[in-house]
Amino acid sequence: MGIKKFKYNAKTTSFKPIKNQRIRNFRNLAAFLIVTAFFGIISGFIFSNKVNSPEENSLAAELKEMKIQYELLNKKVKQSQEVLGQIENRDNNIYRSYFELDPISEDVRKAGFGGVNRYSKFTDWKYGDLVSDVAKNIDILNKQMVIQSKSLDEIVISAKEKDKMLRHLPAIQPVANKDLTRLASGYGMRMHPILKISKMHAGTDFAAHIGTPIYATGDGKVTLAGREGGYGNVVKIKHGYGYETLYAHMSKIKTRSGQNVKRGDIIGYVGNTGLSTGPHLHYEIHKDGQPIDPVSYFYQDVSPDEFNVLLDKSQQMSVSLD
Ligand SMILES: [Zn+2]
Repeated sequence: MGIKKFKYNAKTTSFKPIKNQRIRNFRNLAAFLIVTAFFGIISGFIFSNKVNSPEENSLAAELKEMKIQYELLNKKVKQSQEVLGQIENRDNNIYRSYFELDPISEDVRKAGFGGVNRYSKFTDWKYGDLVSDVAKNIDILNKQMVIQSKSLDEIVISAKEKDKMLRHLPAIQPVANKDLTRLASGYGMRMHPILKISKMHAGTDFAAHIGTPIYATGDGKVTLAGREGGYGNVVKIKHGYGYETLYAHMSKIKTRSGQNVKRGDIIGYVGNTGLSTGPHLHYEIHKDGQPIDPVSYFYQDVSPDEFNVLLDKSQQMSVSLD
C-alpha cells in the first residue's frame, strides 16, 4: 500500500488526493488500446468495403451475367437430352424392334461418365459446379448422338436387307387368279387321282388352260429347268433365306438352269406333263428342305378376305390333280 499524496488547489483552497501513478498509467494504456482497436476495426471495415474500380465492377457484372448464361445453357442442353431421349425410345421400341434388332440399353447409351472426374479443373472456380455440370451434360449429349447415329445406320442396313429378303420370299400366286377359281387342290393328305391311294400332297394345284403363263413367285436363281419323273417339265428356284419353289407339269419351260429371275418373270406355261390327270400347275414351297403349305405365301396379291376363300378351297378338296 503506497503513501497517499495530496495536491493543493489554490482556487478551492483545499487539498485533493493525488491519484496513484500506476492507475493512471494503466488507464492511459487501456485508452490507447481502445482507440487503436477502434481505428483498426474502422480501417478494416473500410478496407473490406473499399470502392471497386470501374473495371472490377464490370467484371463482377460480367461474372453474374455469365452465371445466368451458364444456367440457361444447362437448361437448353437438358432439353436437348430430353428430345434425344424420346428419339432413343422410338428407336428402341419401334424402329429397332421392327427390324428385329436388340434394343440399345440406357447403360450403353450413357456409358463412360462415371468414375474418373474429368471436370476437376473447374473445382476451384467460383461457379465450378455449374461449369462442370454444363460440360458433362454436353459430353453426354454428344455420346448419345454418336450412338443414335450408329443405330440409324444399322437400321438402314437392316431395312435394305429386309427389303432384299422381302423381294426374295415367295409371295404371289404362280398363275393369274383374279377370281380365285384356279385353286383346285391344297396341301395335305389327298387321294391321288392316278395311284388311287391317300398320299401326302406337298403342294397346291392350280387348274388352268394349257399355255397359261407361270410366274416366278419371288426373286431367285433357277436350279433346275427340265424333265424330272412324275413332275414332268419342272422348274426349281432357290430364293435364299432357306426358301425354294417348284413348278411342275409345264407344257413349256421358258427359263434355264442358273438363270436369275425376278418375282413376276414368266418361267414357263401350264401343261399336263408327268403324272397328271389334266392341265394344271403343281406348285410347292420348301423351307429349309421341307415342303410347307403354299397358301400362306400368296400374301402380296390376295386380300385377307381372298385369303380366307383360298384357305377354304385348299382345305376342302379331297382329290388332287397329281
Ligand atoms: Zn399337285
